[in-house]
Amino acid sequence: MQLTRDRKAWLEGPGAACNSRPEHNPRPRRLVLLGAPGVGKGTQAEMLCAKLGACHLSTGDIFRAAKAIGACERSPALAAALQYMRRGELVPDETVLALVSERVNCLKCEGGFLLDGFPRTVAQAEALEQLLKKNKLSLDAVVSYELPIEQIVARLSGRRTCPQCKAVFHIDALPPKLPGICDHCGATLYQREDDRPESVRVRMEAYETSTAPLTAFYSSRGLLCPVSAEGAPKEICARTLEELRNRNP
Ligand code: AMP
Repeated sequence: MQLTRDRKAWLEGPGAACNSRPEHNPRPRRLVLLGAPGVGKGTQAEMLCAKLGACHLSTGDIFRAAKAIGACERSPALAAALQYMRRGELVPDETVLALVSERVNCLKCEGGFLLDGFPRTVAQAEALEQLLKKNKLSLDAVVSYELPIEQIVARLSGRRTCPQCKAVFHIDALPPKLPGICDHCGATLYQREDDRPESVRVRMEAYETSTAPLTAFYSSRGLLCPVSAEGAPKEICARTLEELRNRNP
């Protein structure tokens, strides 16, 4: 299985093509990952994609990639979306849905996909359901990571991210070998703007009001697969794969 993809088509939109095609995947998985900010969805998404040969599709990554391009190259909708993101607020459904719809080829990719950070509201979940149906696709499962709130806050405030290779560290739980420096590519680590305390508070509120109802939505579709997010990333990944095997042997 291929370990990493450049995800160019997802990050840059329909005008871009990925540099590599997925290896033949006899069993493409189409999954959604749910969980409050800080449960480790991003880390799990990377690990699961490496195991399952699927592509990691994160809507947050689309916005972070847009930050890196020049302000005049951003569409007005994307520029407005970045303002919401900076404040830790959810970007309006309309904008997110337009971005995902124009990237529908990524959902059709023969390697499968793992959506991370989308859907985040019931309206987005309904729109995704329609979009998949229109393309004769369906989800295999929706993994919902669960973790007590105190652990979530500790994880988020200590998280440090590599701007270059996107590796994620934690000042206590997973410190880099040299403080502040990425082990993999040597870049200077940073704290994501939305991991700062004032944004974290807003994100948790947004999660409770808009995203938590998604567990009920997917439970009613028989797709919900709850997984405990306690423990080391490898343990959580193994637990997730086991739950998925139990669901679809
Ligand atoms: P994430 O990396 O998934 O935590 O996303 C970072 C930020 O991007 C969020 O705090 C939102 O501002 C925005 N965002 C990402 N995905 C969505 C979405 N599906 N709906 C609304 N806002 C989103």
